[in-house]
Amino acid sequence: MKRTKIKDLLNTTEFGQQVTVKGWVRTFRNNQFIAINDGSSINNIQAVVDFTTTEESVLKRITTGSAVSVTGQVIESLGKGQRVEIKVEQLEIIGDCDAEKYPLQPKKHSLEFLREIAHLRFRTNTFNAVFKVRNALAYAIHKFFNERGFVYMHTPVITGSDAEGAGEMFRVTTLDLDNLPRTEDGSINYKEDFFGKSTNLTVSGQLEGELAALAFGEIYTFGPTFRAENSNTTRHLAEFWMIEPEMAFYELDDNMDLAEELLKYVIRYALDNCSDELEFLKGRLQEEEKQKPQNERSELDLITKLNFCLENDFERITYTEAIQILKNSKPNQKKQFKYLIEDWGADLQSEHERYLVEKHFKKPVILTDYPAEIKAFYMKQNSTDEQGRNTVRAMDILFPGIGEIVGGSQREESLEKLERRMKEMHIPVEEMNWFLDTRRFGSVPHSGFGLGFERLVLFVTGMTNIRDVIPFPRTPKNAEF
Ligand code: ATP
Ligand code: MG
Ligand code: MG
Ligand code: MG
Repeated sequence: MKRTKIKDLLNTTEFGQQVTVKGWVRTFRNNQFIAINDGSSINNIQAVVDFTTTEESVLKRITTGSAVSVTGQVIESLGKGQRVEIKVEQLEIIGDCDAEKYPLQPKKHSLEFLREIAHLRFRTNTFNAVFKVRNALAYAIHKFFNERGFVYMHTPVITGSDAEGAGEMFRVTTLDLDNLPRTEDGSINYKEDFFGKSTNLTVSGQLEGELAALAFGEIYTFGPTFRAENSNTTRHLAEFWMIEPEMAFYELDDNMDLAEELLKYVIRYALDNCSDELEFLKGRLQEEEKQKPQNERSELDLITKLNFCLENDFERITYTEAIQILKNSKPNQKKQFKYLIEDWGADLQSEHERYLVEKHFKKPVILTDYPAEIKAFYMKQNSTDEQGRNTVRAMDILFPGIGEIVGGSQREESLEKLERRMKEMHIPVEEMNWFLDTRRFGSVPHSGFGLGFERLVLFVTGMTNIRDVIPFPRTPKNAEF
């Protein structure tokens, strides 16, 4: 018999029909009530065993975590909190589970504990919800761009360039230990590691994306990127997914408009298509909030927070204005900063970004025109201001609870200016001719941004640690499997 998915069954009105459900046992109560989950829904279906007809030896094998197949009649449930249940006629154990050894007991486990058993945490409601939302957001991103005629471009994972110039790269080495390139003293010659070349895992697909944008007009990438992040924060992974649209003929304002539209579109999509999951995550957060002292509790619930984000224009201010706001913040607030920003030129830390968003403007903020010194070489340079300061046409989008979610800019289209900037920043111009060709042959104004996918998933799910929104987090402590 064809398997019926629990999600469909929970919505059915066809009582009396015969179905087969297959899934994993969440709980088994009173030797009679089996709560089965097959992953299609957060909610379980209850199967009611007729213990006069089911063999004792089979009943004994029903434990939390075991896999079962249940065939029976769909009936209306008299129990609280469920509409439908199955009256079991046939019960089969598909896979046994040693309850003593099974780490997932029918109780609430901490996220820290579940992180240690990341390979099994898919079977919990929290991670079912989180990864369903993640999936919906990924789909919505492709949908958004494809509806607008953007071309999905695959950029390389192994590359010779360091797009961000931040030096946070993982080098690619060969596993052929006998044939590693060696220098004269016998040490490994990393410069020649990739068949005679030095390469690393990509930190961003942007530069390659620019090449494509100056032919297709509008493209986007959506793939894994790697950064040897030395810090252990709740916002950084060593392997994360990034969405990087790149558009010819877009100036900074067009770039900001697109980013804001994208974020609102995908959040709307999640609200419309993941209501069960988001309701569950909202409840989970509310439980967490109750553990906090009254004055630290969030006033808004998850769904309200998401809707709020859709209803308001993001605040757009310059870096210079942001510094002024931070400098003018109340002494009490300043005491709370770990790192005090008093001077123009310093890079904002996530505590400052969150202050601007959560306390000052109380909505998402787009910060533009950053000091050239703290941004990458490819950003378009503004003319020097009255005080002789150099800024670039950068834009960072800051979100509540997250800080930076998007980093983007209008790109420098002038070959001369770009080369000058690269030399100032000690970037080997002669190795980047492939990139500079875009500026040599029919250069046009263009812009793009990078959206950190996990930061988006963090925001929409209300989770607080980035390790909890990617199936297999890669951080200094997590890489076993
Ligand atoms: P941050 O200041 O938070 O370190 P960044 O400025 O180094 O970020 P960008 O180079 O601007 O990051 O990358 C674009 C986007 O990718 C960021 O806005 C962020 O959403 C995401 N991102 C960057 N680094 C990481 C990381 N290590 N883990 C997860 N997401 C990241
Ligand atoms: Mg960084
Ligand atoms: Mg940054
Ligand atoms: Mg950035």
